Amino acid sequence: MISGRPTIGVLCLQGSFMEHSAALKQLGASVREVRLPEHLEGIDGIILPGGESTTLLKLIDEFALREPLLNAIINGLPTFGTCAGIIVLAKTVTSHSMTPLGLLDVSVARNAFGRQVQSFEEDLMIDGLAGSVFRGVFIRAPIIESCGPKVRVISRLHSGTIVACQQSRIFATSFHPEFVPDLRVHQYFLHIAGIQGQHPSDSSA
Ligand code: GLN
Repeated sequence: MISGRPTIGVLCLQGSFMEHSAALKQLGASVREVRLPEHLEGIDGIILPGGESTTLLKLIDEFALREPLLNAIINGLPTFGTCAGIIVLAKTVTSHSMTPLGLLDVSVARNAFGRQVQSFEEDLMIDGLAGSVFRGVFIRAPIIESCGPKVRVISRLHSGTIVACQQSRIFATSFHPEFVPDLRVHQYFLHIAGIQGQHPSDSSA
Protein backbone atom coordinates (compact mmCIF):
# COMPACT_ATOMS: atom_id res chain seq x y z
CA MET A 1 0.00 0.00 0.00
CA ILE A 2 1.40 3.38 -1.01
CA SER A 3 1.36 5.90 1.77
CA GLY A 4 1.25 9.66 1.29
CA ARG A 5 0.15 11.39 -1.86
CA PRO A 6 0.52 9.07 -4.89
CA THR A 7 1.84 10.31 -8.20
CA ILE A 8 -0.10 9.03 -11.17
CA GLY A 9 1.24 9.49 -14.67
CA VAL A 10 -1.13 10.43 -17.47
CA LEU A 11 0.07 9.86 -21.01
CA CYS A 12 -0.28 13.38 -22.41
CA LEU A 13 0.39 12.86 -26.11
CA GLN A 14 -3.14 13.12 -27.47
CA GLY A 15 -6.74 12.58 -26.40
CA SER A 16 -8.63 13.10 -23.14
CA PHE A 17 -5.65 13.49 -20.82
CA MET A 18 -6.87 16.74 -19.24
CA GLU A 19 -10.12 15.15 -18.06
CA HIS A 20 -8.26 12.18 -16.53
CA SER A 21 -5.85 14.54 -14.79
CA ALA A 22 -8.75 16.51 -13.33
CA ALA A 23 -10.41 13.34 -12.00
CA LEU A 24 -7.17 12.16 -10.38
CA LYS A 25 -6.57 15.55 -8.76
CA GLN A 26 -10.09 15.48 -7.32
CA LEU A 27 -9.18 12.15 -5.72
CA GLY A 28 -6.12 13.69 -4.12
CA ALA A 29 -3.46 12.24 -6.44
CA SER A 30 -0.57 14.22 -7.79
CA VAL A 31 -0.49 14.07 -11.61
CA ARG A 32 2.63 13.66 -13.72
CA GLU A 33 2.29 14.50 -17.41
CA VAL A 34 4.05 11.74 -19.31
CA ARG A 35 5.51 12.67 -22.70
CA LEU A 36 9.06 11.39 -22.47
CA PRO A 37 10.69 8.25 -21.03
CA GLU A 38 12.10 10.12 -18.01
CA HIS A 39 8.59 11.14 -16.98
CA LEU A 40 7.93 7.49 -16.05
CA GLU A 41 10.43 7.69 -13.21
CA GLY A 42 8.88 7.35 -9.77
CA ILE A 43 5.22 7.21 -10.76
CA ASP A 44 2.81 4.93 -8.87
CA GLY A 45 0.47 4.25 -11.79
CA ILE A 46 -0.34 5.45 -15.29
CA ILE A 47 -3.44 6.24 -17.34
CA LEU A 48 -3.51 5.77 -21.10
CA PRO A 49 -6.40 7.98 -22.21
CA GLY A 50 -8.92 7.72 -24.98
CA GLY A 51 -8.18 9.47 -28.22
CA GLU A 52 -6.99 8.00 -31.48
CA SER A 53 -5.03 4.79 -31.04
CA THR A 54 -3.08 5.01 -34.33
CA THR A 55 -1.92 8.52 -33.41
CA LEU A 56 -1.14 7.49 -29.83
CA LEU A 57 1.00 4.56 -30.98
CA LYS A 58 2.76 6.70 -33.57
CA LEU A 59 3.60 9.31 -30.91
CA ILE A 60 4.62 6.62 -28.39
CA ASP A 61 7.18 5.46 -30.95
CA GLU A 62 8.24 8.97 -31.95
CA PHE A 63 8.87 9.93 -28.33
CA ALA A 64 10.77 6.65 -27.70
CA LEU A 65 8.25 5.63 -25.08
CA ARG A 66 7.39 2.12 -26.28
CA GLU A 67 10.19 0.20 -24.61
CA PRO A 68 10.25 2.06 -21.28
CA LEU A 69 6.46 1.93 -21.08
CA LEU A 70 6.46 -1.80 -21.84
CA ASN A 71 9.14 -2.43 -19.23
CA ALA A 72 7.38 -0.35 -16.59
CA ILE A 73 4.04 -2.12 -17.09
CA ILE A 74 5.63 -5.58 -17.27
CA ASN A 75 7.39 -4.75 -14.01
CA GLY A 76 4.03 -4.09 -12.36
CA LEU A 77 3.22 -0.41 -12.91
CA PRO A 78 -0.55 -0.16 -12.34
CA THR A 79 -2.09 0.87 -15.65
CA PHE A 80 -5.52 2.07 -16.68
CA GLY A 81 -6.41 2.22 -20.37
CA THR A 82 -9.61 3.85 -21.54
CA CYS A 83 -11.08 3.45 -25.03
CA ALA A 84 -8.13 4.07 -27.38
CA GLY A 85 -5.98 3.22 -24.35
CA ILE A 86 -7.35 -0.33 -24.38
CA ILE A 87 -6.35 -0.64 -28.05
CA VAL A 88 -2.85 0.58 -27.23
CA LEU A 89 -2.58 -2.06 -24.48
CA ALA A 90 -4.20 -4.95 -26.37
CA LYS A 91 -2.49 -8.13 -27.50
CA THR A 92 -4.49 -8.28 -30.72
CA VAL A 93 -6.32 -5.72 -32.85
CA THR A 94 -8.41 -7.68 -35.32
CA SER A 95 -9.78 -4.87 -37.45
CA HIS A 96 -6.67 -2.92 -38.39
CA SER A 97 -3.03 -3.57 -39.05
CA MET A 98 -1.18 -2.01 -36.13
CA THR A 99 1.32 -2.99 -33.46
CA PRO A 100 -0.10 -2.32 -30.01
CA LEU A 101 1.86 -2.87 -26.81
CA GLY A 102 0.50 -6.42 -26.53
CA LEU A 103 0.28 -6.44 -22.74
CA LEU A 104 -3.42 -6.97 -22.09
CA ASP A 105 -4.59 -10.38 -23.28
CA VAL A 106 -7.65 -9.18 -25.17
CA SER A 107 -8.63 -9.10 -28.78
CA VAL A 108 -10.27 -5.82 -29.81
CA ALA A 109 -11.92 -4.44 -32.93
CA ARG A 110 -11.59 -0.69 -33.42
CA ASN A 111 -14.64 1.49 -34.13
CA ALA A 112 -16.79 -1.63 -34.01
CA PHE A 113 -19.93 0.08 -32.68
CA GLY A 114 -20.00 2.22 -35.82
CA ARG A 115 -19.21 5.76 -36.78
CA GLN A 116 -18.85 8.82 -34.51
CA VAL A 117 -22.59 9.56 -34.74
CA GLN A 118 -23.32 6.08 -33.39
CA SER A 119 -21.58 6.98 -30.12
CA PHE A 120 -23.89 6.26 -27.15
CA GLU A 121 -24.30 6.11 -23.39
CA GLU A 122 -25.51 3.22 -21.24
CA ASP A 123 -25.86 2.61 -17.52
CA LEU A 124 -23.43 -0.10 -16.45
CA MET A 125 -23.11 -2.49 -13.56
CA ILE A 126 -19.41 -2.77 -12.69
CA ASP A 127 -18.12 -5.52 -10.39
CA GLY A 128 -16.62 -4.02 -7.27
CA LEU A 129 -18.33 -0.64 -7.56
CA ALA A 130 -20.74 0.10 -4.78
CA GLY A 131 -24.00 1.89 -5.20
CA SER A 132 -25.82 2.75 -8.33
CA VAL A 133 -25.01 2.06 -11.95
CA PHE A 134 -22.16 3.91 -13.64
CA ARG A 135 -22.90 6.00 -16.72
CA GLY A 136 -20.81 4.58 -19.55
CA VAL A 137 -19.92 7.04 -22.32
CA PHE A 138 -18.90 5.26 -25.52
CA ILE A 139 -17.31 7.41 -28.21
CA ARG A 140 -16.41 5.47 -31.32
CA ALA A 141 -15.35 2.78 -28.92
CA PRO A 142 -13.60 -0.50 -29.63
CA ILE A 143 -15.30 -3.82 -29.00
CA ILE A 144 -13.48 -6.26 -26.74
CA GLU A 145 -14.14 -9.44 -28.71
CA SER A 146 -12.44 -11.93 -26.41
CA CYS A 147 -10.30 -12.11 -23.29
CA GLY A 148 -7.54 -14.53 -22.31
CA PRO A 149 -7.72 -16.75 -19.21
CA LYS A 150 -5.97 -14.27 -16.90
CA VAL A 151 -8.36 -11.46 -17.75
CA ARG A 152 -11.33 -10.86 -15.47
CA VAL A 153 -14.40 -9.32 -17.07
CA ILE A 154 -15.88 -6.72 -14.75
CA SER A 155 -18.59 -5.09 -16.83
CA ARG A 156 -20.76 -5.81 -19.86
CA LEU A 157 -23.41 -3.95 -21.82
CA HIS A 158 -26.98 -5.28 -21.65
CA SER A 159 -26.19 -6.95 -24.98
CA GLY A 160 -23.41 -8.95 -23.31
CA THR A 161 -20.52 -7.06 -24.93
CA ILE A 162 -17.52 -6.78 -22.59
CA VAL A 163 -16.72 -3.16 -21.67
CA ALA A 164 -14.35 -3.39 -18.70
CA CYS A 165 -11.73 -5.90 -17.65
CA GLN A 166 -8.72 -6.39 -15.43
CA GLN A 167 -5.56 -8.43 -15.78
CA SER A 168 -3.49 -8.20 -12.65
CA ARG A 169 -2.59 -4.49 -12.34
CA ILE A 170 -3.85 -3.57 -15.79
CA PHE A 171 -7.38 -2.22 -15.82
CA ALA A 172 -9.21 -1.21 -18.98
CA THR A 173 -12.55 0.20 -20.04
CA SER A 174 -13.91 0.76 -23.54
CA PHE A 175 -15.94 3.69 -22.16
CA HIS A 176 -14.79 7.10 -20.89
CA PRO A 177 -15.10 7.49 -17.08
CA GLU A 178 -13.27 10.82 -17.36
CA PHE A 179 -16.31 12.40 -19.04
CA VAL A 180 -18.70 11.94 -16.11
CA PRO A 181 -18.51 13.56 -12.66
CA ASP A 182 -18.74 10.15 -10.93
CA LEU A 183 -15.19 9.35 -9.72
CA ARG A 184 -15.77 5.73 -8.71
CA VAL A 185 -13.97 4.16 -11.68
CA HIS A 186 -10.85 6.26 -11.14
CA GLN A 187 -11.08 5.40 -7.46
CA TYR A 188 -11.31 1.73 -8.42
CA PHE A 189 -8.09 2.12 -10.42
CA LEU A 190 -6.35 3.69 -7.43
CA HIS A 191 -7.54 0.74 -5.38
CA ILE A 192 -6.06 -1.72 -7.91
CA ALA A 193 -2.86 0.27 -7.75
CA GLY A 194 -2.82 -0.27 -3.98
CA ILE A 195 -3.05 3.43 -3.40
CA GLN A 196 -6.21 3.74 -1.34
CA GLY A 197 -6.88 1.46 1.56
CA GLN A 198 -10.58 1.74 1.14
CA HIS A 199 -12.18 -0.43 -1.52
CA PRO A 200 -14.78 1.44 -3.59
CA SER A 201 -17.34 -1.28 -2.82
CA ASP A 202 -17.18 -0.15 0.79
CA SER A 203 -20.30 2.01 1.09
CA SER A 204 -18.48 4.53 3.27
CA ALA A 205 -15.97 5.18 0.47
N1 GLN B 1 -11.84 5.24 -32.34
C1 GLN B 1 -10.67 5.46 -31.56
C2 GLN B 1 -9.55 4.53 -31.98
O1 GLN B 1 -9.77 3.59 -32.64
C3 GLN B 1 -10.96 5.28 -30.09
C4 GLN B 1 -11.98 6.30 -29.65
C5 GLN B 1 -11.83 6.83 -28.28
O2 GLN B 1 -10.81 6.68 -27.60
N2 GLN B 1 -12.88 7.49 -27.85
O3 GLN B 1 -8.45 4.75 -31.64
